Amino acid sequence: MLVERTFSIIKPDAVERNLIGTIVSRFESEGLRPVAMRRSLLSRSEAEGFYAEHSERPFFGELVDFMTRSPVVLMVLEGDNAILKNREIMGATNPADAADNTLRKLHANSIGENSVHGSDSPVSAARELNWFFKGSEVSS
Ligand code: ADP
Ligand code: MG
Repeated sequence: MLVERTFSIIKPDAVERNLIGTIVSRFESEGLRPVAMRRSLLSRSEAEGFYAEHSERPFFGELVDFMTRSPVVLMVLEGDNAILKNREIMGATNPADAADNTLRKLHANSIGENSVHGSDSPVSAARELNWFFKGSEVSS
């Protein structure tokens, strides 16, 4: 067993449709416990910095517009193999490709408005959770 922490966002499309509880409940029921959580309306600079690795992609402007249009929920999730487990629960980026019963298959509107973010590696998880949370805000 490897207890890890990963970083998760409930994106604007899901918050707008009152899916916060549904999504958090799914994580808890699968052994991913929120150990930090905050609702926030992201600034453009927060969203641009968070998604810096995608800054040259053609969809970057659209992605920042989307992520800043209404509030998100920022979370640190903790549990066994949390990084991979979260990616499995989320499903593929494009809901058309996502496996049955994944969050994106169940809830996403499109490849862009895909309801949830999850870190894809230990390095990303550390960078992303530190981008939004101070150490004192995370507690097991
Ligand atoms: P993931 O979120 O599955 O790790 P990526 O890191 O590749 O996916 O992309 C980050 C986010 O950018 C996606 O979750 C989605 O919101 C958006 N995105 C990715 N590809 C596209 C695209 N082709 N068109 C519009 N938005 C996209
Ligand atoms: Mg990614």
